[in-house]
Amino acid sequence: MADTLTPMHVEIISPDGAIYKKDGVDMVIARALDGDFAVMKNHVPIAAALQVCTLRIQFGDEEERMAVFGGFLDMKDNKVHILAPLAELADDIDVARARAAKKRAEERLAAKKADLDVERAKAALKRALVRLATKEAKF
Ligand code: ATP
Repeated sequence: MADTLTPMHVEIISPDGAIYKKDGVDMVIARALDGDFAVMKNHVPIAAALQVCTLRIQFGDEEERMAVFGGFLDMKDNKVHILAPLAELADDIDVARARAAKKRAEERLAAKKADLDVERAKAALKRALVRLATKEAKF
C-alpha cells in the first residue's frame, strides 16, 4: 500500500545503470507516443512508451530536465521508473555539439542526395532539437 504522505521516488535507468535517482518529487512530465502526460503522487499505475523528449521532474519550486531518447515509463505505488536507451541531464548537454548536429541534419535533409537516409537524418535532427529544448537553448 502506498504511503499517501510520501511524494514520489523517480529513477532513470539506462544500459549504464541508474543514472538519476530522486525522492520527494511532486510531478513528472513526459511525452508518450500519443502526447504529453504528467504523473503526480498517488496516480493510478501507469505504463507508457516514451518519445525522444524532454523529461521534466518537478519538486517544490524546482524543476530538473533530462533529454530522454525513447524508452518506457512505469509508475506504481509512487515509484516512477524510466528505462531508456540513453538519457542526459540538462547540465551534461553540450549546446555547441547539439547545434552542429542540428545543422548537419538540416543540411542533409535540404540537399536531398540520392543516397540520403531520410529517417536517420530526421532522427538525428530530433535528438539535437530535444537536447537544445532540454537545455532551453536557442535553436
Ligand atoms: P552527434 O552527431 O553530435 O554525435 P548524435 O545525436 O548522433 O549527436 P548520439 O548517437 O545520440 O549522438 O549519442 C552518442 C553519444 O554522445 C551518447 O553518449 C550521447 O550522450 C553523447 N552526446 C551526443 N550529443 C551530445 C551533446 N550535445 N551533449 C552531450 N552529449 C552528447
